[in-house]
Amino acid sequence: MIPDSPTAANRLLMDYRREAMDLGSPPVPIIDAHTHINGSEAATLFAEVMDLYGIEAVWSMTALDEVESVRESLDGRFEPIAVPDFRDPDRRSAHGDGYLRRIEAYRAKGARIVKFWSAPRIVDFGEEAGDPAMLRLDGPIRRAGMQLATDLGMAIMIHIADPDTWFATKYADQAKYGDKRSQYEPLEAVVADYPVPFIAAHMGGWPEDLEFLDGLLSRHPNLHLDSSATKWIIRELSRHEPSDLIAFLKRHRGRILFGSDIVTLDEHLRTADKDTENVMATKASNREDAFDLYASRYWSLRRLWESDHDGESPIADPDLAMVDPERHGPLDAPRLRGMSLPPSELRMLYREAAIAFSESIPADGRPSRS
Ligand SMILES: [Zn+2]
Repeated sequence: MIPDSPTAANRLLMDYRREAMDLGSPPVPIIDAHTHINGSEAATLFAEVMDLYGIEAVWSMTALDEVESVRESLDGRFEPIAVPDFRDPDRRSAHGDGYLRRIEAYRAKGARIVKFWSAPRIVDFGEEAGDPAMLRLDGPIRRAGMQLATDLGMAIMIHIADPDTWFATKYADQAKYGDKRSQYEPLEAVVADYPVPFIAAHMGGWPEDLEFLDGLLSRHPNLHLDSSATKWIIRELSRHEPSDLIAFLKRHRGRILFGSDIVTLDEHLRTADKDTENVMATKASNREDAFDLYASRYWSLRRLWESDHDGESPIADPDLAMVDPERHGPLDAPRLRGMSLPPSELRMLYREAAIAFSESIPADGRPSRS
């Protein structure tokens, strides 16, 4: 169903079911290495989106107590990724001792990847607890988690940095957050110290700068990137010449995994109740909007990677107005420029890189469907 008026996920009033038919199957079934699938109803709706857009399986940062129900809703096409409990107000425990116990529990449920979240605003969490450096990625609390992941034979995923647009605005206080380059010092320290496969999420946090990523990947043979975070990735990769991006992918074949960063929640399917409203839930409040929210990501990403599309993204990008409120409104969107990857690079990005990464994880426990 097409909405009556433009929405953030469908500002061009498209029928994403029909669009999926027009797009056809991808050249290989896609493995989405970076999602946040939660809520069994939302996961069931998301399964329809997966089928329409040719997504074979997802790796997902699902809440620990929802792993079984989400796995069931997705008919087993799912592998959980361990994540800390962000609702726990005790940040030291949530990312420290408490997380160690959770990692073990996730492992028992089939997880083979442990996520460490280290956006610049992790400093705020430390500050709340009286020690801004408390959750440094290369500090003792996070290292205990990485040592456990290593001992369990698990891979490590890290969110480091954030868009350049955020460093120009939210993180303008450099004395507090450091500059963008400085975020990579602790990352490079831990990638060198733990002999397991790593994924740096969201094109390593720096899709704006392929040259920097070239250096980063060259220095660390165990490091991989996922291409998730749809709005950020569309905005910034579209600025590169397709030939430059393709050359980058060829230089680092097999080390860039497809990802979307789609977040699903049951709250997306109903009108938000004021008391329980959370920020993520405001992105959709009924089934059709939720469908568009999820489908718009795959439509845009497949257009970006597979086609020579050149037009505005169908997804509103609030970063435009954040950086330049004079020129942009909340429903504005950047250019979406298709990269027309050659078939061999597309197969690598969509599927083969994820399979090779999976096979390089020491832990053998494939998720069971118990
Ligand atoms: Zn994510």
